[in-house]
Amino acid sequence: METTLVILKPSAVLHGYVGQIVQRFQQKGLVIRGMKMMQLGEPILREHYAHLTDRPFFPDLLKSMMASPVIVMALWGNDAVNVVRMMTGATNGRKAQPGTIRGDFSVSGQENIVHASDSADNAEIELKRFFSPDEIFDYQPSWLKYTYEPAEMK
Ligand code: UDP
Ligand code: MG
Repeated sequence: METTLVILKPSAVLHGYVGQIVQRFQQKGLVIRGMKMMQLGEPILREHYAHLTDRPFFPDLLKSMMASPVIVMALWGNDAVNVVRMMTGATNGRKAQPGTIRGDFSVSGQENIVHASDSADNAEIELKRFFSPDEIFDYQPSWLKYTYEPAEMK
């Protein structure tokens, strides 16, 4: 089992899509182990998007990510990083498959509704970036026994 980081970006918050997107993750069987609203600033975004700071669109990306508060989520499940990336879809909403979050809620390369960690290593780093340890809760809802076979709970 592993935990991954999701950010519901300003494009999700400002459109009023938060509930629909949270519902998708819960319906899939992911457990919400942390969730809060926060206003991101330039320092944390420069760290989070360090791989993009040299790109021409970076100033617009900063503006877009600071346009409103965001919702950050820690989602727990078997292979959660890959499961959530599959649900998220391709970066550009115009290329994302219908049925994915970006495919269903976005037509933009930038205003693409969600961020999701892209590897287990990055998930660990990103969870620490946005949550303190006491904001992530280690609990198991009773319905997990209908969600996984015992061998999958590892
Ligand atoms: N982005 C953008 N233009 C691009 C590529 C990326 O505005 O040409 C933005 C977009 O919001 C994307 C974020 O930068 O979600 C991070 O880019 P990354 O390549 O890490 O894509 P992701 O992991 O979000 O799919
Ligand atoms: Mg990325």
